[in-house]
Amino acid sequence: MSSKLTGFMDIERKNFSNRSISDRVKDFDSVNIPLTESEMMAQANRCMDCGTSFCNWGCPLGNLIPEWNDLVYIGDWEGAYHKLALTANFPEFTGRICPSLCEAACVLGVNRDAVSIREIEQSIVETAFENGWIQPRTPKVRTNKKIAVIGGGPSGLAAADDLNALGHRVTVYERELRVGGLMRYGIPNYKLDKSIIERRVDLMKAAGIIFVNGMKIGRDIKLETLSKEYDATIMACGTWVPRDLNIPGRDLKGIYFAVDYLSQQTKKYFGEKFEGEDLNAKDKVVLVIGGGDTGADCVGTANRQGAKKVYQFEILPKPLICRDESMPWPTYPKLYKSTTAHEEGCINEWEVATKEFLGKEGHLSGIRGIKVEWIKEKDDRYHLTELEGTGFEMDVDMVLIAAGFLHTEHDGFIGKSGISLDKSGNVSTDDKHMTSLKKVFAAGDMRTGQSLVVKAILDGKQAATNVDRFLMRCE
Ligand SMILES: Cc1cc2nc3c(=O)[nH]c(=O)nc-3n(C[C@H](O)[C@H](O)[C@H](O)COP(=O)(O)OP(=O)(O)OC[C@H]3O[C@@H](n4cnc5c(N)ncnc54)[C@H](O)[C@@H]3O)c2cc1C
Repeated sequence: MSSKLTGFMDIERKNFSNRSISDRVKDFDSVNIPLTESEMMAQANRCMDCGTSFCNWGCPLGNLIPEWNDLVYIGDWEGAYHKLALTANFPEFTGRICPSLCEAACVLGVNRDAVSIREIEQSIVETAFENGWIQPRTPKVRTNKKIAVIGGGPSGLAAADDLNALGHRVTVYERELRVGGLMRYGIPNYKLDKSIIERRVDLMKAAGIIFVNGMKIGRDIKLETLSKEYDATIMACGTWVPRDLNIPGRDLKGIYFAVDYLSQQTKKYFGEKFEGEDLNAKDKVVLVIGGGDTGADCVGTANRQGAKKVYQFEILPKPLICRDESMPWPTYPKLYKSTTAHEEGCINEWEVATKEFLGKEGHLSGIRGIKVEWIKEKDDRYHLTELEGTGFEMDVDMVLIAAGFLHTEHDGFIGKSGISLDKSGNVSTDDKHMTSLKKVFAAGDMRTGQSLVVKAILDGKQAATNVDRFLMRCE
């Protein structure tokens, strides 16, 4: 192995490989094949001890990346895990599905390939699990404070984990049969194997956290009841109201929201009951509307279900391949990403607007679309223009709308509670995460709007700190 100081010059970035396409589209098992221990040590050697670690700034959790890279490089995996665990509650989640804001900020990324930080993180935590270094965070002393967490997504789990470790008695209420939130019912199994979530939940249970699944607050228990019973309540219910595409023909059968489609697939995979019709892409021509990651997850899922052909349309222009002055290093750039799902078979089109859903006997049979262009006007903003003569029609059997989420659900307990909302329709809090109801806090996407797992974890952790201070009257 080359010396630490010149590792970044001597060693090329090498990523995890993937199972062959023909093999992986047959199942929902994990796509990635990790590198060996010595290969990962070499990758950690590419971290160049740059002095000002922008990766640490780029990571919302403030992970101590150069420190754990150095420990991996010298083969001290246990030391690396303990450094990682100082800031990250669930590195096994982020090590698999984080878009790696840290790598976008890596100094090496200025003119070379960034250090493969996310994969090093995954390797550290998996080595720690294999060696039994990860133990339940059971507190030595218990306070007499009881806290209810509503929602078992990453933010609720992070809040529960920290509050329990601080000695409080925590109960997580989850409406679904299993916790994990969008990590479980949105992100497909081939990107994040759900046994990874179970393994962490088992540790949290062993540490004393109580999970009450299949319990929907607002339907099975009132918020006021929880509020009376517990010293504090944290709501971490996410943003589950999808953005719709209200164009003619929207009421035809065969048009679904991405999150309904993806969550049903996960439920089927685990033999859970689901409501409504079976959403299956087998032998169908599928159009995914929305070019983001959720859309890519629909592409991968449709191919695994045996779709005849999969299209993905995005109304915005194709993102750039390299940074330009609008997204300078070390900010997170919006660049073109071809995912493993796209490699599996997908026709991608950018700058296409879907104008109408066409149908026969109440069922979707196709769409009418048009090519568009984004033109910068005098106000310096980009305006959409439809390109004359580019209108087209195509046959489609199934449409999946992956256009993001609007806000948290209002028709459940939130609507009845009178809790103040912000102008986007998410729960508004003060700077201590407290809502307009005393003793009731909010965290994660429900508070910040649609986001990322790593940011939801951070918000859950910050809410936990604020609840602890509130209960222990530190402020
Ligand atoms: C398809 C898809 C793919 C994504 N891929 C990625 C990715 O690759 N990387 C990434 O970083 N981010 C990704 N995200 C975003 C990420 O999953 C979310 O930002 C994150 O899960 C938000 O966490 P949360 O805990 O705030 O909310 P959620 O994950 O939404 O969890 C909220 C939980 O609250 C529960 N709940 C809601 N109402 C009630 C109630 N009344 N009673 C009890 N429980 C309730 C829900 O069932 C859910 O379990 C993706 C999102 C989607 C939709």
